[in-house]
Amino acid sequence: MKKDDCIFCKIANGEIPSRTIHEDQRFRVILDLSPATRGHALILPKEHAENLYNLPEDTAAAVLVLAKKLAVTMKERLGCDGLNLVQNNGEAAGQTVSHFHLHIDRKSVV
Ligand code: AMP
Ligand code: ZN
Repeated sequence: MKKDDCIFCKIANGEIPSRTIHEDQRFRVILDLSPATRGHALILPKEHAENLYNLPEDTAAAVLVLAKKLAVTMKERLGCDGLNLVQNNGEAAGQTVSHFHLHIDRKSVV
């Protein structure tokens, strides 16, 4: 279900434009507005879930499969020395947008 006052619901479902690098039935992958690194992307499920605690298990499984594919593509196309997957849950953990999202953060030593 979509949540009316959720910005990532609106972005994931195409109501607000974004720099989309991948879209399929369940997910939209966008470039972060304030990228930590070149290519910093966010995987957004189209269905609203606030965080990992209430993310449906099938979405949780699918998100890592997609992250793996994107990681390989990013490494091949952009090149990188390392890559972090980061996912914050709750304000105390640094979550600023209450719609589950997985950061894919490319790292380069140069
Ligand atoms: P988090 O701290 O894990 O909740 O991460 C939220 C991320 O969303 C941050 O890296 C923000 O830069 C990013 N962000 C917030 N609003 C937008 C937006 N409208 N489009 C793209 N990225 C956004
Ligand atoms: Zn949402």
